[in-house]
Amino acid sequence: MKQHCLWYYTSPEYSLSLDTLRGDHTADIVVIGGGITGLSTALHLAEAGTDVVLIEAGEIPSGGSGRNVGLVNAGLWIPPDDICQALGEQDGERANAILGGAPAEVFGLIKRHGIECDATRTGTLHLAHNAKGERELFRRIEQFQQRGAPVELLEDEACRHKVGTRRIRRALLDHRAGTINPAAYTRGLARAAASVGARLHEHSGATGIMRQGSDWRVITAEGSVTAPRLVIATNAYTEDHWNQVRQHFFPGHFFQVASRPLPDEIAGDILPERQGAWDTRMVLSSMRRDAEGRLILGSLGKGEGRPQAYVRGWADRVQRHYFPQLGKVDWECTWTGRVAFTPDHTLRLFEPAPGILAACGYNGRGVTTGTVVGKGFAHYLIHDEDALMPLPLRVPKPVRAKPLWSSTYEGGFTLYHTGQCLRVLT
Ligand SMILES: Cc1cc2nc3c(=O)[nH]c(=O)nc-3n(C[C@H](O)[C@H](O)[C@H](O)COP(=O)(O)OP(=O)(O)OC[C@H]3O[C@@H](n4cnc5c(N)ncnc54)[C@H](O)[C@@H]3O)c2cc1C
Repeated sequence: MKQHCLWYYTSPEYSLSLDTLRGDHTADIVVIGGGITGLSTALHLAEAGTDVVLIEAGEIPSGGSGRNVGLVNAGLWIPPDDICQALGEQDGERANAILGGAPAEVFGLIKRHGIECDATRTGTLHLAHNAKGERELFRRIEQFQQRGAPVELLEDEACRHKVGTRRIRRALLDHRAGTINPAAYTRGLARAAASVGARLHEHSGATGIMRQGSDWRVITAEGSVTAPRLVIATNAYTEDHWNQVRQHFFPGHFFQVASRPLPDEIAGDILPERQGAWDTRMVLSSMRRDAEGRLILGSLGKGEGRPQAYVRGWADRVQRHYFPQLGKVDWECTWTGRVAFTPDHTLRLFEPAPGILAACGYNGRGVTTGTVVGKGFAHYLIHDEDALMPLPLRVPKPVRAKPLWSSTYEGGFTLYHTGQCLRVLT
């Protein structure tokens, strides 16, 4: 089993191989971070005629944007009422409305810019793994339907037909959602942004920022960009201590395991319409198939650093539980990505200093969130009006005891997976 991210190798959109930033430059706006948030910001700014420079530390995509499951989900992980509880009624309903419409934004951009990313819009499936899970789905369906969202409860045969397992009796089908190859979507955003004039640079990590008059100067190893406004879109991959973003989330991980392509004679009944799915377990299992028919399983926690036998053992266990009809599966590759968690499970949009915008803490929901945050940031920077952002800018409280949060989460995930492997948990 190889240790690499499947999506980089199966992306229909090619890498742009962009130049490193060299020398001193100026722009209207600098964006740090070439994931979905940064690229959506740069694309929407450049489309409006703004002179924008984006710098990315690695290659596009290096962060969560290229490594995720590829679920184009509506809303956050927590249900709409919980969002209102965390953010207050007014901001909560605003987040519910903008993030509920976010899959349409993603699929709209894909269409408008001809992004080849194996997009399917057949919905996503939230699978109840036991009676408690079923009650959770009923709660979610009620809350979504109160807000007019096109969601549906699938039961028994209808459910088996869509998922291809006898283990699940009830599932929530969200018709707003779908799946993509996330590396291809991110590369497509970069291509689209460059085509409308955004200046993008790879291998150009910011190493510091400093005030220069009323402007901000962003320093990289071989150059600098000076601009009056700055967007920090480094999210879970924020490494340096020259900015405050790291104070506002605690890092966790999510790993995935992909099979070799499975022909339809063997796997044709598994997610035949290519919905992405995940279950209601406390430590969820995600499952989807890609354009070439691979089965891709995932869960919270670190795959990297664990023995391969452990990761393979977990994948075998989940596959045999849900899809025993496959027999023994040959696993092709595995990879891990970093997730920015917050204690209240909601994102952070804030202004760390005058003229600087930052976003982080998507809690594993960033394909849609990053896309609409980028659009909202661009609108705010051009029109000084925040109506398109899922939340107004807030002054966040730094997360306390971050190492404790991270180690508690990781320890809990490991214990749960060990329980699954040992069949203590069914
Ligand atoms: C394994 C996994 C599965 C997930 N599954 C899903 C899913 O199915 N659906 C979903 O909606 N969300 C999912 N998520 C979450 C989603 O991937 C992220 O929330 C989203 O990609 C964040 O995008 P971003 O642009 O904000 O950050 P990122 O994509 O992480 O981009 C940040 C970028 O900043 C760069 N950077 C860091 N420091 C510097 C610097 N100093 N200078 C320049 N650049 C820098 C990094 O190299 C990186 O490219 C998942 C996440 C993971 C890890």
